[in-house]
Amino acid sequence: MGIQEQYKALQEEVGKVCESCGRDPRDVMLVAVSKTVGADEIVEASQAGALDFGENRPDDLLEKYDAMPQARWHFIGNVQSRRISDIVPKSFLIHSVYKVDHLAKIDAAAKEAGKIQNMLLEINSGEESKGGLDPDMSFGFLAAARRLPNIRMCGLMTMAPQGDLDVARACFANLRALRDEILDMGVVDDTYFNELSMGMSEDWREAIAEGATIIRVGRAIFSGDFA
Ligand SMILES: *Cc1c(COP(=O)(O)O)cnc(C)c1O
Repeated sequence: MGIQEQYKALQEEVGKVCESCGRDPRDVMLVAVSKTVGADEIVEASQAGALDFGENRPDDLLEKYDAMPQARWHFIGNVQSRRISDIVPKSFLIHSVYKVDHLAKIDAAAKEAGKIQNMLLEINSGEESKGGLDPDMSFGFLAAARRLPNIRMCGLMTMAPQGDLDVARACFANLRALRDEILDMGVVDDTYFNELSMGMSEDWREAIAEGATIIRVGRAIFSGDFA
């Protein structure tokens, strides 16, 4: 299958999985993670209907944004302080913020760019090698973010450990419970704080079953690993 066929097959499968768990497919955004491919493959995916693309390196984000500024670009990689002013003007949504120290800089960069920056708080799902904040620390982070006028916190993101779908599903259930707890505590603006960015090529089905509103899929679209 080519990229267009794979994208369409994935979309169809997403629809079926949503149906099987009683969810509306329009409530699940599919972000095509294009970090391993170039502009030609991105154009192909967009021809199949892809609107949202994810990148994890600032230089790639800038280059691919310029190749297709009409798409919505998601930054899903490690945020480095010195690259914030590059990332912010190009990002529709930054999925991977978790350092309180970065908030003021993102707020300033958003102001400079004349935008409100949509962001998700990345939560660590137990692997020390991965980024993300300890769930217990999320309340303090969100209270700090709320004081900044050019930042909009839209929800949570996590990466589950790979290799065991039951473990992944438990991580996703925990993320949903954390979002609901945060909403109950009233530390965020509940008009926006509803997104759960969780699920990749291997585990997006489990993520949808646990309430994902955004799935981030790379290999299943771009490298023929669609299963
Ligand atoms: C690469 C990546 C993905 C996509 O992973 P696949 O296994 O290729 O679907 C999703 N989220 C993040 C943060 C990534 O870095």
